[in-house]
Amino acid sequence: MLRKLRIVKAFLRIGHFTSKEKLAVYQAKMLRKRLTTHGTSFYPDSENLEDFPIINKQIFMDNFDQINTVDIKKDEAYNVAIQSEESRDFSSKIGEISVGLSSGTSGSRGIFLVSPEESIAWAGYILKRMLPTPYLQQHKIAFFLRANSNLYESVNSFVIKFTFYDLLIPIEEHIERLNKTQPTILIAPAQVLRLLAQSDRLKIHPKKIISVAEVLEREDEVLIEERFTQKVHQIYQCTEGFLAHTCKEGHLHLNEDRVYIEKEWIDKESGRFSPIITDFYRTSQPIIRYKLDDILVYDATPCTCGSVFARIQKIEGRCDDILKVHSVDKKEYHLYPDFIRRAIITASEKVEEYRVEHKEDGLHIYLQPLSTEKVVDVALQKLYQEQNIEVLTHHFHLYEKELLTQKRRRVKQL
Ligand SMILES: [Zn+2]
Repeated sequence: MLRKLRIVKAFLRIGHFTSKEKLAVYQAKMLRKRLTTHGTSFYPDSENLEDFPIINKQIFMDNFDQINTVDIKKDEAYNVAIQSEESRDFSSKIGEISVGLSSGTSGSRGIFLVSPEESIAWAGYILKRMLPTPYLQQHKIAFFLRANSNLYESVNSFVIKFTFYDLLIPIEEHIERLNKTQPTILIAPAQVLRLLAQSDRLKIHPKKIISVAEVLEREDEVLIEERFTQKVHQIYQCTEGFLAHTCKEGHLHLNEDRVYIEKEWIDKESGRFSPIITDFYRTSQPIIRYKLDDILVYDATPCTCGSVFARIQKIEGRCDDILKVHSVDKKEYHLYPDFIRRAIITASEKVEEYRVEHKEDGLHIYLQPLSTEKVVDVALQKLYQEQNIEVLTHHFHLYEKELLTQKRRRVKQL
C-alpha cells in the first residue's frame, strides 16, 4: 500500500512547464544535482557536463561494475537476467534491485538495474504522461513485449490492472485473452499492433493505443488508426530511459523534465540527430552523456498542444542502418534507411511486406509478393538517380516471416 501511495505522490509531483525559460532553469538545477551526486568511480568529479566523456552501450557495459552504485557485478547481474529470460519469470532481483536485459537489436546486450525508488518514479511519470484523462478512471492495460519486467508491473495500482502478453506465445492465443479482458489501453510493438488491427477475430475497443519498442511506420500507423478509429500514440522508451511520448495531438515530445538531451547532428539541414542523454533520475546506474544509436528527426515547429518540450518529427531507426554507399563521383555517401523504405512502399500498393539488407554484393530485397520486384527495381533506380549515387546490384528474394520477438528492422546495413 505504501508503495502505491508513493507512486501517486510521484505522479502528483510532476510539474507542468509553461515556458522554455522555466524548463531551462529546472534542467540546469537537475543537471547540476545529477553531475555532483553520481557516486560512481567511473565519471569525473565535476559540475560541468563537458568534462564528462561521451559514452555508448559498449563503454557502459565494459564499465558496468564501476558505473553502478549498488555494488552489483556484471556477471552476477547477467546470470540473473538470463535466468529470468529462460524461465519467463521476470520477478527476479538481487537484493531489492530488479535486473533486466535490454532488447537491443545489435549483438551487445545491455543489462539494466532498477531500484524500488526508481521504479516508483518511473511508474508515476509514465502514468502521468500516458494515462487518458480524467485520471481516476479504472484502466486495464494490455502490454505486449518480449520480456516483462518488475518495472512494468510497477504500474499496477488501485485503478490500474496490468497484464503482460508474452510475444513468445502465438498471437492467435492472445486474441482470445484480449477479447475476454477487454483492455482499455493497448501497448505493443508496431508490428504486433498491425497484426492485431488485421485480425477479424479481435473484438476490443481500447481507449488508447500506444506503440513501443520499434519504429512506427506511417503505413502501419494509418492501418491501425483506421481499424481502431483513433490516434496511435508512441512511447520512446529504452533501457537507458523514457525519452519521449506523444502529446494529445499525437506529436512526439522529448521528456525534457526527465532527461537532458544533447544533439549529435547527423545532418542538421534535415534535422537528423543522435541523442546524447543524461537522465536526472537514474541513480542505481547513472546515465550521463550516453549516446544512443538512434536517428531522431528534430522538428522546430511549436506544438499546438502547448507543451514547451522539444518536438521530434519521428524516430527513424538506428545509425548502424544508414547505408554506406558511393556517390557517382566515387565519394562515400550515407543513404538513410528511410529513403529506401519510402521508395519501396510508394513503388506499388501491392507490396505487402519487405525487408532490405545491404551487403557487399549489393542490396538483398525480400518481397511479399515477389511479383512486385520489377516496380521496386524501377523505384530504387529512380532513387539512385535522384541522390546521385552509384547504382547498387539488386538480389530479389521472397519475403519470409520473422519472429515477433525480434525487433523489426526493415532496412539493414550488414
Ligand atoms: Zn504536442
